[in-house]
Amino acid sequence: MKITVVGTGYVGLVSGTCLAEVGNDVLCLDVDPEKIRILEEGGIPIYEPGLQEMVRRNVAAGRLHFTTSIEKAVDHGTIQFIAVGTPPDEDGSADMKYVLAAARNIGRLMTDYKIVVDKSTVPVGTADLVRATVAEELKKRGTEVPFSVVSNPEFLKEGAAVEDFMRPDRIVVGAEDEQAILLMKALYAPFQRNHERLIVTDVKSAELTKYAANAMLATRISFMNELANLAEKLGADIEMVRQGIGSDPRIGYHFLYPGCGYGGSCFPKDVKALIKTAADKANIELKVLTAVEEANDLQKHVLTGKIKAHFGDLRGKHFALWGLAFKPNTDDMRDAPSRTLIADLLAAGASVTAYDPVAMHEAKRIFGDQDGLRYGDSPMGCLDDADALVIVTEWKEFRSPDFDGIKAKLKAPVVFDGRNLYDPKFVRAAGLTYLPIGR
Ligand code: NAD
Repeated sequence: MKITVVGTGYVGLVSGTCLAEVGNDVLCLDVDPEKIRILEEGGIPIYEPGLQEMVRRNVAAGRLHFTTSIEKAVDHGTIQFIAVGTPPDEDGSADMKYVLAAARNIGRLMTDYKIVVDKSTVPVGTADLVRATVAEELKKRGTEVPFSVVSNPEFLKEGAAVEDFMRPDRIVVGAEDEQAILLMKALYAPFQRNHERLIVTDVKSAELTKYAANAMLATRISFMNELANLAEKLGADIEMVRQGIGSDPRIGYHFLYPGCGYGGSCFPKDVKALIKTAADKANIELKVLTAVEEANDLQKHVLTGKIKAHFGDLRGKHFALWGLAFKPNTDDMRDAPSRTLIADLLAAGASVTAYDPVAMHEAKRIFGDQDGLRYGDSPMGCLDDADALVIVTEWKEFRSPDFDGIKAKLKAPVVFDGRNLYDPKFVRAAGLTYLPIGR
C-alpha cells in the first residue's frame, strides 16, 4: 500500500518505518528540514532502540522515503497518517494547530481517494474537525474528491516503540465507513500474531480510548506515589506493599512503581487535556484526574524535599545526578522529573553534574549554558566533588553500581534514589546513607 506519514517524530518515524518493514511503500513528511536532512543522510533524529537499523534496511530496500515537500506527500499515500504533535495549549487543552494544518494540506492538494488517519492523540471530536477542514479546502477548490477520516490512536511506548508497533497488544480503529475499515484491517493484518488484535469502534470512542489508557496509567502512578509518601511516614515499606497488592490479578504488577513523578510527552499533557475536554465539552469536573495531576506536580519535588530535609541550606552544595530522560531507553526529556529537580537545586544555590546514557545532548539543548549545571562522561565520573548522588531515571546501567566506589567519592555519602533501584539493606551495609521513596 502507498502510505504517507505526516510528522516524522517519535510516533511518525516509528510507524512509518514499521509499515515499510512489512512491505508498504512509505513516504514520511516533516516540516522540520533538519530532521529530514538527518534521515536522508542515514541517521535518525531521536534515540529509539532498534529503529536506526530498521530505517536503514527499509531505505535501502526502497520502501521508505523522507520529504519536506507537502505536494509529494499528499500525492503519495492513499492512506495519510497524521502523526504530528499535539502539545498542551496555555489552558491545558491539546493544541490542534499542527493536526489541522496537516488536514488543510491534504484537502488543498488531494486529487484522488484518501483515508486520513489521526494517529496523534487528539480530543474527542477531532475527527469531525479534520473531516470539516478537508471538506472546506475541497470546497474552496470547487472540487469533490472522496475521502474517509479514521481515528487510530497509537499506544507505543518510547524506549520499546519498535517492538510495540510490530507486536501490538491491540490496534484501535475508530471508523464508520466500510471502505476505510476494510483498508485499515488489511494494513494491520501483518501485525496481528495468533489472534485478532484490531478493535473497530466508532470514531469518538477510539479518540477517548487513548486518553482513557494514559489517564488510567497516570492514576496508578500517582496512587502509588501517594501511598509511598504515606508508607514512609508510617514506617512501612512501599516495595513490600507493591508486591502484596500486585499479586492480586485484579490489580497486577504493571505500573505500580512509586517514584519521583511521571513525565514524558504523553501522560502530563494527556491528563491535562482530558480534564479540559471534560470541563469544556461536558461541563464535568474529573475529580480523580485532577487529583492525579496535583499529586504528580507535588511528587516531582519529592527528591528536592528529601535533599533539603537532609542538608538544610543547599547553597554551595554539589550533586551528582544520574538520569535525565523521563524514562530509560529514550532521549526524550519533555516534562521529565529531572528538569524539575535541576531547577529546584539550582534555585536553592546548589550545583549539579548530570549523566545520562543518551539524553545529554537533549539536556544541553534545553538548559543551554546554564550556570551551575555540568555533565559527566560516565556515572562514576560525575561523582567527583559531589556531596551526594541523586538517581532520577532507572537506566539499566545504574542498577548495579560500585557502592564502595560511590562511598569513597561522595563527600557526604548519601544516595537519594527516586526510582527505588536497590535493596536498602545492601546499600546501607556499604556504609552509605540511602534515601529511596516510600521505604
Ligand atoms: P514529535 O514532536 O516527536 O513529532 C511530531 C513531528 O511533527 C515533528 O517532527 C514536527 O516537526 C512535525 N510536524 C508538525 N507539524 C507538521 C506538519 N504540518 N506537517 C508535517 N510535519 C509536521 O511528537 P510525537 O512524540 O511523535 O507525538 C506525536 C503524536 O502522537 C502526539 O499527539 C502524541 O501525543 C502522540 N503519541 C505520542 C507517543 C510517544 O510516546 N511519543 C505515544 C503515543 C501517542
